[in-house]
Amino acid sequence: MSFASPGTGYRAWFECFRGCAGRWSLTEVIYRCPNCQGLLEVRHDFGPLLQTSAAEWRRLFAGRSRTTDWPFGSGVWGKKELVCPVVEDENIVSMYEGNTNLFWAKRFGEMLGLDDLWLKLCGNSHTGSFKDLGMTVLVSVVNQMRADHSQIRAVACASTGDTSASLAAYAAYAGIPAVVLLPKDKISVAQLVQPLAHGAITLSLETDFDGCMAIVRQIAEKDGIYLANSMNSLRIEGQKTVGIEIVQQFDWKVPDWIIVPGGNLGNVSALGKGLLELLELGIIERLPRIVCAQAQRANPLYLSYLTDFEKVEPVQALPTVASAIQIGNPVSIERAIAVLRRFDGIVEQVSEPEIVEAVAEADRTGLFNCPHTGVALGALKKLAARKEFRADDKIVVLSTAHGLKFTDFKVAYHRNQLEGIDAQLQNQPIELRANYDSVRDEIQRQIDKRFGSGE
Ligand SMILES: *Cc1c(COP(=O)(O)O)cnc(C)c1O
Ligand SMILES: [Zn+2]
Repeated sequence: MSFASPGTGYRAWFECFRGCAGRWSLTEVIYRCPNCQGLLEVRHDFGPLLQTSAAEWRRLFAGRSRTTDWPFGSGVWGKKELVCPVVEDENIVSMYEGNTNLFWAKRFGEMLGLDDLWLKLCGNSHTGSFKDLGMTVLVSVVNQMRADHSQIRAVACASTGDTSASLAAYAAYAGIPAVVLLPKDKISVAQLVQPLAHGAITLSLETDFDGCMAIVRQIAEKDGIYLANSMNSLRIEGQKTVGIEIVQQFDWKVPDWIIVPGGNLGNVSALGKGLLELLELGIIERLPRIVCAQAQRANPLYLSYLTDFEKVEPVQALPTVASAIQIGNPVSIERAIAVLRRFDGIVEQVSEPEIVEAVAEADRTGLFNCPHTGVALGALKKLAARKEFRADDKIVVLSTAHGLKFTDFKVAYHRNQLEGIDAQLQNQPIELRANYDSVRDEIQRQIDKRFGSGE
C-alpha cells in the first residue's frame, strides 16, 4: 500500500493572526507580525487540499498510522500535507510521536456519573509529554533551513520543564545545538535530567517561567539562535494533530467535549485550529465544546473568561503543584480566546487541594496522571457536579504528560507532606519482618480494612 501524497502543490505560509497584510515563508526567521507585533499563524492553501475528498483523507490518515513508512507513521507526519508541507521528507526530524492511546476511563467516569469518559494519553510519547507533537515540526523546519544553508547555530527555549525536554531530545536527534532556560527549582527531577542527558546547554535562572521567557525572546533577536517557544507558530501545527487524532480514533465521530489544561495556552489553541481545519475539509461535520482548565494560582484566562473576555490581563502566577502551567502571561491568550469563542468554550479554575484530590482519586482507578492532567480532571469534576454534562456525553480529557515525570509530587502526597493538603488516599509501604505468618496476617488485616471484611 502506498501512503504517498494524493496530490501536489500543497502550500503553507505565516500570516498575522490578527489579519494584517503580508505573508512570510515558513523557513523565514520571524515570530511576530512586523506591523502589529501580534502572533503569526500558519495558513494552508486549501485549494490543493480540497482536491482530495474527505473520505480519501480519512482513509489515508488512518492507513498511515503506526506504519514504519517514513515519515508517515508518525501521528504528526501522517498528516504532513495539512501540517507542514514545506519540509522535505529527508529533513524531517521525527521519533514517531503521536498515535497515543485513547481509552475509556470507566471507573473514574462512573464515580462522576459519566458513562462515556475517555483519556487521551499524550504523555505516552518520546519525552513523556504532548510537547513532542509540536517540537518535531519546529525542529524539522530548522533542519530544513540548515540544509538550505541558513545560518542557524542553535535552537533555544524558555520552559517549565517539558518543552526543554522535548527540544533537547529532537535537537540532539538532528545534531543541532540546543539552549534551554529553566526557572531554578521549579521543575521536576525527571524534567531536569532530560536536557542534561541530551547535552543541551541548560541554564537554571533565579526567576519564574515568565522571567525566562522575557530573556529568551531577547536572545532570539540575536543572529543565529532560533526561538522554539510556542510563540513560534510552527509548534501549533504539530500540536493541532491531537484533535485530529482523537476524532480519527473515534472513527471520525466528534466527541461532545474535550477538556484540556492551559498554561501558555498553545495547546488549547492548537486543538481548536486542527478541528476547524477538519471542518473546512469536510472531514468532520460539527465541533465539540472545549473546556480549558487552569490552576487557580495561575489563572489569567479564567479571570478574562469571567469578563466574557472583555478584559485580558496578565497575573503574577503563584507556585502550584501543576508547575508546567505556572504561567501568568500566556503567549497564546488571544488565540485561545478565539478558539473558546468558536467552540462555545468554558474556562474553569481548580484549587491546589482540588488538583491533588482529583489526581489521587483517578490514580485509584488505574490512571496515573501528572498534576496538569489533575487540573483537567478537577475541572471535569466541577462541571459534572454542576450538571454541565449529560450522562451519555462523550468526554475526552487530554492528559498532557506522563505521571512518571512527576513522581516527586506523588511521593510527597503519599507521605502526606504536601502543604495544606489532607492526603485522604495516602498509601505507604508497610515494613514487615520477612516472616510468613506476619506477612499473611498483615495482608488479611489490610484487605479487611481497605475493602471490607465481606460480612
Ligand atoms: C506545557 C504543558 C501544559 C500547558 O500547555 P500550554 O500549551 O502551555 O497551555 C500542560 N501540561 C503539561 C504537562 C505541559 O508540559
Ligand atoms: Zn499584525
